[in-house]
Amino acid sequence: VTIGVARETAAGEARVALTPETCRKFVAAGAAVQVETGLGAGAHFPDPDYADAGARIVGDARAALSGAALVLCVRPPDAGRLQWVQPGAALVGMLQPEADAARGQIIAERRLLAFPLERLPRTTRAQSMDVLSSQAGMAGYKAMLIGAQLAPRFFPMLTTAAGTIRPAKVLVIGAGVAGLQAIATAKRLGAQVEGFDVRPETREQIESLGGRFLDLGVSAAGEGGYARALTEAERAEQQRRLGEHLKGIDVLVCTAAVPGRPAPKIVTSAMVAGMPPGSVVVDLAADSGGNCEATRPGETIAVDGVTIAGPLDLASMGATQSSEMFARNVFNFARLLLGEDGLAPDWSDELLAKTVWPAPPPGPREG
Ligand code: NAD
Repeated sequence: VTIGVARETAAGEARVALTPETCRKFVAAGAAVQVETGLGAGAHFPDPDYADAGARIVGDARAALSGAALVLCVRPPDAGRLQWVQPGAALVGMLQPEADAARGQIIAERRLLAFPLERLPRTTRAQSMDVLSSQAGMAGYKAMLIGAQLAPRFFPMLTTAAGTIRPAKVLVIGAGVAGLQAIATAKRLGAQVEGFDVRPETREQIESLGGRFLDLGVSAAGEGGYARALTEAERAEQQRRLGEHLKGIDVLVCTAAVPGRPAPKIVTSAMVAGMPPGSVVVDLAADSGGNCEATRPGETIAVDGVTIAGPLDLASMGATQSSEMFARNVFNFARLLLGEDGLAPDWSDELLAKTVWPAPPPGPREG
């Protein structure tokens, strides 16, 4: 089977879906790999490393994608590039087919087997393929570092000749994969950290990282280990208590999300105005609209003396290792698709059947 990988084209995207390490593994498994020159430049993987790993380096995206039975990507190729992918080929990456009508249409027209990895069921077996988790870890880490960088203060407690410095007070809203990594990062830097989530099981997870669980009196566990949206009454109670608490917070990192919905608006502009002068909000949920009313996605702004950052490319900021993790996730998933000589998806495997788009997989697709 031939695997094709072209450079990512999305603005600010430095990650890559194939590293020299996974290239070597694909080649060892019998695949031919063709990559566009400069493929890994943004993530610091030079062409010669891919060549050493057995890849054929080609001059442009069209040559990389043409003739490939399996195309790997981080972000979806634009509709023009999808025209170069041969009919029936498989596409693996964060494809978001519903986010762009033209893209969805070409996938359907060319009968591409699209596997948007964001649809992968989050079962134990799928953990090694879970790009949402691997990328969220980097995003949470970088979000907290941005908070530390923007704050006009230390994170740790210090006893100095010039007096005692109190530790920074940090709050993380949403203790999923990104939030827990943000908490762990703040803790390593010496801050006093609190975490809050609507899923009650996060209390123990936050505490195991040395954080304090902030109890706002709201619990909203939903389907499949995710949160559900809050009722109006729950939301009002949460907001009243949160607003009061934020008056003592130096750095707030927001990571709350509900699958398939815009980010819940949790922090109002009035709450921001009540935060101490010089405090910082980093809104990791900015790419789905933000948890903070005042967030401007992609910008860092000052509002009422508070700095509000809405970074959009957090995982990409750690491109080398987020790519290493992403590429391993992709390799582990792609292995399910590859047969002796070509694509051989086994539709009885729920990881394939539930990820393929559009769902459900029509039986006759086999062969
Ligand atoms: P996510 O990005 O969808 O959400 C981030 C967090 O925001 C979640 O913890 C959610 O509870 C929280 N949240 C939502 N609304 C909120 C509100 N109003 N206030 C405060 N917090 C709110 O979640 P994620 O990080 O992708 O994953 C969440 C959970 O999914 C994990 O912690 C885990 O339980 C489960 N998961 C399981 C596996 C696995 O078993 N393989 C893998 C990954 C995730």
